[in-house]
Formats: sequence, C-alpha cells, structure tokens
Amino acid sequence: MSIYQDKAKECKCCGKHVPLPTTLKEYNGTMLCPTTFSNVVEYKRIWKAAGSRPPGSTRKHFSDYVQQLVEATINQEE
Ligand SMILES: [Zn+2]
Repeated sequence: MSIYQDKAKECKCCGKHVPLPTTLKEYNGTMLCPTTFSNVVEYKRIWKAAGSRPPGSTRKHFSDYVQQLVEATINQEE
C-alpha cells in the first residue's frame, strides 16, 4: 500500500481508479481528489449564477456525489 493509495481512500469517488490522485483538497470538511474538487467548484459556480438548482441538462455532467456535496453547502447557507 503506497502513500497515494492510502490518501486516495479519503476521496469517496476514487478508492480504486487509476491514476490515483497524488494530492487532495478540502471542501467543506471533506477531502476530495482534484477532479472532484474542480467539479464541485464549477457546479457551485453554475448554481450561484443560476440562482437555483441547475437543470438536468447541466446536472448530468456532474456526479451524484458532486451534486450532493454542493447541495449540502447551499443548504447550510440558507
Ligand atoms: Zn476522487
């Protein structure tokens, strides 16, 4: 078990896929791989710009996990 394998386990989306992330970022107390982190930031930006939950045609580009993370922070802000 390499340090990268150990680290990757902290991101719920990528326990197994290759290549593993070599760095993780924290978002709202959750450790995320850079891909998921970027998607969260982008999804939240779209949500804020729209002022409400983006339509299905936009949501389909983001995983359920990403949507769930963003919705949790939106709910906290309200
Ligand atoms: Zn990941």
